[in-house]
Amino acid sequence: MKDINSGNVQTLEKMISEARKISIVTHQKPDGDAIGSSVALYHYLTFCGKDSVRIILNDRYPSYLGFLTCSIPENDIIVHKERSVEAEVLLNDSDLIFCVDFNAFHRTDRLEPVLSASKASKILIDHHLNPDRASFDLSFSETDISSASELLYQILMHTSIISQDAERLPAESATALMTGMTTDTNNFGNSTYPSTLLMASSLLGAGVDRDRILLHIYNQYGENRIRLMGHILKDLLTITEDGVAYIVLDRKTQKEYSVEEGDTEGFVNIPLSIAGVRMSILAKEDDGKIRVSIRSKKGTSANGCARLFFNGGGHENAAGGRLNIPEDLPGIEAAAEYIEKHTHIYLNGENE
Ligand code: 5GP
Ligand code: MN
Repeated sequence: MKDINSGNVQTLEKMISEARKISIVTHQKPDGDAIGSSVALYHYLTFCGKDSVRIILNDRYPSYLGFLTCSIPENDIIVHKERSVEAEVLLNDSDLIFCVDFNAFHRTDRLEPVLSASKASKILIDHHLNPDRASFDLSFSETDISSASELLYQILMHTSIISQDAERLPAESATALMTGMTTDTNNFGNSTYPSTLLMASSLLGAGVDRDRILLHIYNQYGENRIRLMGHILKDLLTITEDGVAYIVLDRKTQKEYSVEEGDTEGFVNIPLSIAGVRMSILAKEDDGKIRVSIRSKKGTSANGCARLFFNGGGHENAAGGRLNIPEDLPGIEAAAEYIEKHTHIYLNGENE
């Protein structure tokens, strides 16, 4: 963990103590790790006595994460899509901005120009490949780690207030950190390092209620999600000769099953359980584009495929991106052909 050393953590503590107005920003379409690390940091900062801390999001988080945000006053979480002027004014007025769980400003979508123009000091806390370090005054970037939540946990452990004692963390921070780590590892199914299990152990020892977290993140979905999962696995899943499993989810089907943000979370992982499948892709029609999630088994790079053919990136075995209409393809009906053709080129050029 080269970026987590006492020098960098002392610099971080100094920047926090000198800042008056602090914003926390994360990537668009925030997931459990994005919200978990943001909420944990919010509570740490208020615990340090900071009274002007805001979480600024590009868009709203899925409702199953509401158990984390209910501990924060409503006006301290501002969603740009709902209150754009306020979000931009607050970001412009900040003297310190934390950027968590993303590696470059464009991952915040409409917050990008505001972040680029902002004169605030900026601190990166992220676990993705290829961080844009030049955009930040201080960077904590580690890729051999489960999640941004675990990285934040390691940083907080090094601070003078917490001082290697997880019991000193605000309870809301501890719960949020455990949640973000759990969702990014798919409940210890991937990206689990020795440090991850040590973190989990310390947080459990400090009183985090893991059963309650699991109830919220895995057992509170609507019936529609399970029905859709059945339909997808039976009728919409294709497996190519190259060992690529893919699912194309058009608007019509999303409407039919009343799909909301978060309802398809985890679907892309399921086909990886099939022998011979090396890579799994979920292509989901969205406003004027197709959002793509990619997962791969060890030995095949989801990140490489996302960067080369899907305008994206991420981690070695879990990445994402987008296909633009009409630049990349005319519409959702051409997605299957696009995926088959480009994954064939990718896998045969890369590994054969
Ligand atoms: P998901 O499939 O869960 O949306 O994303 C998987 C991983 O890929 C996450 O770590 C996410 O941050 C990253 N990712 C998703 N979409 C994009 C994208 O458009 N660009 C980049 N660079 N990374 C992405
Ligand atoms: Mn993450």
